[in-house]
Amino acid sequence: AEAQLRQIQKMEAVGQLTGGIAHDFNNMLAVVVGGIDLAKRRIGGPKREILQHLNNAMDGATRAAALTRRLLGFARAEPLLPEQTDPGELVRGITDLLDRTLGERIQVRVETNGSWPVYVDPHQLENALLNMAVNARDAMEGEGMLTIATSDVALDDGELGGLPGGDYVRIAVADQGCGMSEEVQRRAFEPFFTTKEVGKGTGLGLSQIFGFARSSGGEVKIDSAVGVGTVVSLFLPRSLVLPEEVRRQPAVASRPSG
Ligand code: ADP
Repeated sequence: AEAQLRQIQKMEAVGQLTGGIAHDFNNMLAVVVGGIDLAKRRIGGPKREILQHLNNAMDGATRAAALTRRLLGFARAEPLLPEQTDPGELVRGITDLLDRTLGERIQVRVETNGSWPVYVDPHQLENALLNMAVNARDAMEGEGMLTIATSDVALDDGELGGLPGGDYVRIAVADQGCGMSEEVQRRAFEPFFTTKEVGKGTGLGLSQIFGFARSSGGEVKIDSAVGVGTVVSLFLPRSLVLPEEVRRQPAVASRPSG
C-alpha cells in the first residue's frame, strides 16, 4: 500500500510537471529543429553560417538536457521519514538560523501558540519553512518584518481544499512584501514557475512545499495582497500517533529499502 501511495504521488507530481514545463521544453525543441533545418538548407553554402545554425541547435538541446536533469532531480525527491514533531519547538529551533540567513534588516518574530504535535519529516518541514522565509525576504527586498506563527486549528470537512475535517496545526509565514497578483497566486505552485531573475529563482520552492504538505496529509494556502504582503500557511494534521507508539518507533522509521 505504501508503494502504491508513492506511485500515486509520483504520478501527481508528473502531472503537474508536464503542465508546467511541456511548454518550455517544446520551445527548446523548436530551437533545435529550426537550427538543424536551417543548417540543412545552407549545405554547400558558407561554413560559418552552417556552424552558426548548428550551434543554435546545440544550445537548445543543452538547455533541454538541463531542464530534464532538474526534472529528474525533482522527481527523485527524498523519501519522507516522519516522526513525532513539536511544531513550536521546531520553529524556535530555526530562529537563529533564519536571523543569520535573512540578514540584519529582516526582523524575525516567532509566535508559537498551540500544543498539538504533528507526524511529519522534520527535515522536510524545516526546508519548507526556510524556503518560505527566503521567499518572504525576497518579497520584502531585504527589509521588513517576518512572522512565523504556529497555532492549533479545527477544520470542518472541505473548509480547506480537499482536507477532511479534523484537528490541524497551522504554521503561517507572514511578510510585508510586494504581495502576489491573482495570476502569480494561481501559478505559484507550478514547478519551475518563477518571477525572479534567471539564477535567482528556480521556481521549485513552493511546488516542493506543496508536495511535502500533500504527502503529509496537509495543505498549503496563500493569502496575499499586492503591495501589502503575503501569508503562506502550512496546514498539517495533528499527529494521531500515541506516545507509547512513538516510543516503539525505530529511530529511523520506514525508510523504503532499495
Ligand atoms: P522561486 O522562489 O524560486 O521563484 P517558488 O516556487 O518558491 O520559486 O515561488 C514561485 C513564485 O511565487 C516566486 O517567483 C514569486 O513570484 C512568488 N512568491 C512566492 N512566495 C512569495 C512571497 N512571500 N511574496 C510574494 N511572492 C511570492
